[in-house]
Amino acid sequence: RVVVAGSANMDLVGIAPRLPQPGETVLGTEFLQMPGGKGANQAIAAARAGAQTCFLGAIGSDAFGVTLKARLGASGVDASRVRIVYGTSGVAVIMVDTRGENSIIATPGANAAFTRLTDQELAAVRDADVLVCQLEIPVETVTEAAITARAAGTRVILNAAPAQTLPAELLAAVDLLVVNEGEAAVITGRGRDEPRALLDHVTRAVLTLGGEGACFVDRDGTDLRVPAFPVEAVDSTAAGDAFTGALAVAWGEGRTLPDAVRWAAAAGAACVRRLGASNSLPMRADIDALYAS
Ligand code: ADP
Repeated sequence: RVVVAGSANMDLVGIAPRLPQPGETVLGTEFLQMPGGKGANQAIAAARAGAQTCFLGAIGSDAFGVTLKARLGASGVDASRVRIVYGTSGVAVIMVDTRGENSIIATPGANAAFTRLTDQELAAVRDADVLVCQLEIPVETVTEAAITARAAGTRVILNAAPAQTLPAELLAAVDLLVVNEGEAAVITGRGRDEPRALLDHVTRAVLTLGGEGACFVDRDGTDLRVPAFPVEAVDSTAAGDAFTGALAVAWGEGRTLPDAVRWAAAAGAACVRRLGASNSLPMRADIDALYAS
């Protein structure tokens, strides 16, 4: 069983030939409304990768909240414990031009009100095999969830995105840190050639390198480079979420971490083959097929 404690957002995407200047209105060609948020995406990734998955988080009392909860449920995620907070859901207003340049206003909305875990939420964390968190909810909530999990023997995976510096008490409760190069640099103050520098902060870490795969390091001396699966990359959106969700599933099933990282790399690769965000997260059979190739 996997529990994901994190964010849920609605992405509102307007596409136009060019981005508007301040004060200007431009005529758009397309509008998309897409459920997202790293927490919800990773929960959907884990459910599709084959785990019984529960999402803990907060949505607003608006129509977006209804849609976000329904999307989680339709994707096989247990969303029964999701909080409904009076006010707006997390929303990202995204403007995109035809060259792919974008401007984004992301408002946390209900995600910012996801604080002080309830007894029911704490019980879900304790009952899980693996807890997965990211940093789009208050860091105090992540810390409380991680410390509770650690004390109960639930493994803690922290995907430290978006990049920010982390309190020592949170890092001390993390069993496995998952970061890309930018996030790693914020934690270590160094560049990509030093994944082992992450071990000054946590006992095990995965560094994802996009189309170049991933590295897994631990304090027992493991220093493993996992190559990317060769695929035709169409859209890298949500690759990191597919990777982290699948990693949690494989580790929770008792696979070794080197093997789980390889399987997660197959999930990330399967995700970049398709256009989109949460809709491009791969099913278990897709991951297995690529992993076996
Ligand atoms: P993030 O989106 O968090 O920056 P990455 O871009 O590093 O994450 O992608 C996560 C993982 O997905 C990578 O470690 C890799 O295994 C896989 N992946 C990403 N892009 C590609 C690609 N172009 N081809 C194959 N695998 C990829």
